[in-house]
Amino acid sequence: MKKLLSSLLIISSLLTTGCFFKQQSYQDTRFLMDTIITISVTGKDQAAIKNATDEAFIAFKEVEDETDRYKSHKPRDLYALNQHNGQGPFIVGDHLYKLLLMYKEQPYTALDLSLGPIIDVWRTHGETKTVPSLEEIKTALAKCGRDKFSLDTTNHTVTLTAGSNLDLGAIAKGYAVDYAASVITKNKAVTSALINAGGNIKVIGTKANGKPWRIGIQDPRNPQEILGILEMKNGQAIATSGDYQRYYEVNGVRYCHILDPATGQPARNAISTTVVSSSALTADFFSTLLFVLPHEEAISVVKNTPQIEAIIVNPKGEIYVSPGLRNTFTKEK
Ligand code: ADP
Ligand code: MG
Repeated sequence: MKKLLSSLLIISSLLTTGCFFKQQSYQDTRFLMDTIITISVTGKDQAAIKNATDEAFIAFKEVEDETDRYKSHKPRDLYALNQHNGQGPFIVGDHLYKLLLMYKEQPYTALDLSLGPIIDVWRTHGETKTVPSLEEIKTALAKCGRDKFSLDTTNHTVTLTAGSNLDLGAIAKGYAVDYAASVITKNKAVTSALINAGGNIKVIGTKANGKPWRIGIQDPRNPQEILGILEMKNGQAIATSGDYQRYYEVNGVRYCHILDPATGQPARNAISTTVVSSSALTADFFSTLLFVLPHEEAISVVKNTPQIEAIIVNPKGEIYVSPGLRNTFTKEK
């Protein structure tokens, strides 16, 4: 299923056509990592900022190649690792290894990178708009769990239990946004940039007029409208997880693409979760995690995690805005 719409709308992009204080602007959009990626850059020299943008897309491609579980790209990628399940330690690429290590070092279980088998069950049923039986879910869930893979930190290998299958959809785009941003900022010609990978956004610098970036947060039940506008400063990242872009319905019941690892069922504790952080990976990670957690638990995770601020919409439509965003988020209604 392609993700054709960004979950966040850029209300006011940096692209003030032409020159502003002799600033040049450049924008390019490509389809990578199963989503639309737009990179908008300003800087002193047109050729240099185009070059920086091209390099940032190469960074996305590099991460896609290592983290795509549906297609083989190179010998040490996620596809190859998953094929190697049950066959002992496997050396993986650096991006993949870093992501798996980061995951292993955090304590949460509601975000689980081993959900490949159960994600496949729901994907298959999504194609025919049917609901899997409890037996199917149980069988798939038996192949999932944090303990289904281990890392060897000396040899950078990953060992995957027989029948298991990793899926990095919850965090790969955020990681790629950080990586692309680091590539872009190395280029000294760039004065500002906005990277948007299907709603995983990072901003660099300020807009040409010196004002903060303004990002519209989509209303999960009226995606053509916005809940409000969030102002973002240099270096900030944002990610939104929602049940309104990748889902299907059977008999009026919505089945979204984020699953609760405890039950194997689509998560139903939230309808939209937005996280702001200095790291796009952190924002992506927590937006998915908070989506799965019960509302009060999600709020308590936000309160106990200094690196993040969040906006959480529960199924009743109630909106929680964490204290750190109260001056930067303006509700629309
Ligand atoms: P999106 O990819 O739509 O931007 P997310 O970052 O929230 O949204 O990631 C959702 C993806 O993560 C799913 O498409 C699936 O590949 C995977 N996934 C679903 N549920 C979980 C979960 N509980 N833990 C980890 N990954 C999950
Ligand atoms: Mg995520």
